[in-house]
Amino acid sequence: MLIVPEKLIADLVTPEAAYEAVEAVFAAMARGDARNFPVVREALGHADALYGFKSGFDRAGLALGLKSGGYWPGNMDRGLTNHQSTVFLFDPDTGRPSAMVGGNLLTALRTAAASAVAIKRLARKNARVLGMVGAGHQSAFQLRAAVKAHAFERVVGWNLHPEMLSRLADVCAEIGLPFEAVSLDELGAQADVIITITSSFAAILKHAQIRPGTHLSCMGTDTVGKQEVEAELVAAATAFTDEVAQSVTLGECQHAIGAGLIADSDITAIGDVINGSHPGRTSEDEITLFDGTGVGLQDLAVAAMAVSRAKAAGSAIEVEI
Ligand code: NAD
Repeated sequence: MLIVPEKLIADLVTPEAAYEAVEAVFAAMARGDARNFPVVREALGHADALYGFKSGFDRAGLALGLKSGGYWPGNMDRGLTNHQSTVFLFDPDTGRPSAMVGGNLLTALRTAAASAVAIKRLARKNARVLGMVGAGHQSAFQLRAAVKAHAFERVVGWNLHPEMLSRLADVCAEIGLPFEAVSLDELGAQADVIITITSSFAAILKHAQIRPGTHLSCMGTDTVGKQEVEAELVAAATAFTDEVAQSVTLGECQHAIGAGLIADSDITAIGDVINGSHPGRTSEDEITLFDGTGVGLQDLAVAAMAVSRAKAAGSAIEVEI
């Protein structure tokens, strides 16, 4: 079995590589070549932690395995990341473990890649202004991936805790794009593409704040009860997702579904757009919304890529088990 430690990931998997892996696995899911297994997520009743597994099998990419991950709120005080993830891969022919891969950076890369795939496939070609709602850990990855997927000219940002917006300003300074902190009304009025990446449990953006033709990648809602945009906005948009089953239960679409504003059949897997069986955006005025819930197959795809690159570089650690 090979071990690819967390510290090696940054040199092995670039945002471009993560984009390629995630786009391919979304396409495989839509073709029926890859499927996610039911997610397990439990409160441990210890250390205030949430812990669970996301798993699946990609028959096309031959990736079988799981991501074990969770949230330990006390970790920060110990100098550790609160979110902890590790990916385990297995040989699909024998069931033998083939790799253990550090999953913290990979989680950020695969989440940002999903949002970027949606932007590339669904945003108007003449979109110029990127609006960021949220300025936490994931936001910097989202911003970096988005500007690689589309030629934005400037970035506007809003965050509940404004002092955190310096994170986005710093990334923009590094990549050479102007950044401005704005109100939510200004953000909706100026942005052609909006990424939401917060841990909010109530709608932040309202339908009335969004212009026709906007694309939204809603990436923060990955749990029952979380919400970033008004259910009416989801209903007014053409909705896409990584996986419909997750979108309607724990993704941004859960609220519009719960309110009876949309049905499961109104939501399209982004893989269908990648494969060409759905046209994606069909007019300049359409609001498109990608509900990025985060699926196990994304984790397996980027982990498998890390393993193959570590093997090629001779940097993976081999152990007998
Ligand atoms: P973080 O703790 O670093 O940042 C949290 C962000 O949410 C900050 O911008 C904060 O100001 C904002 N926020 C907190 N409470 C809020 C509220 N009530 N209203 C509005 N904004 C609020 O978290 P992070 O690591 O950046 O993750 C952000 C979200 O993305 C989390 O909900 C996380 O679970 C989710 N996430 C989703 C995926 C996926 O695949 N979809 C993957 C990783 C993380």
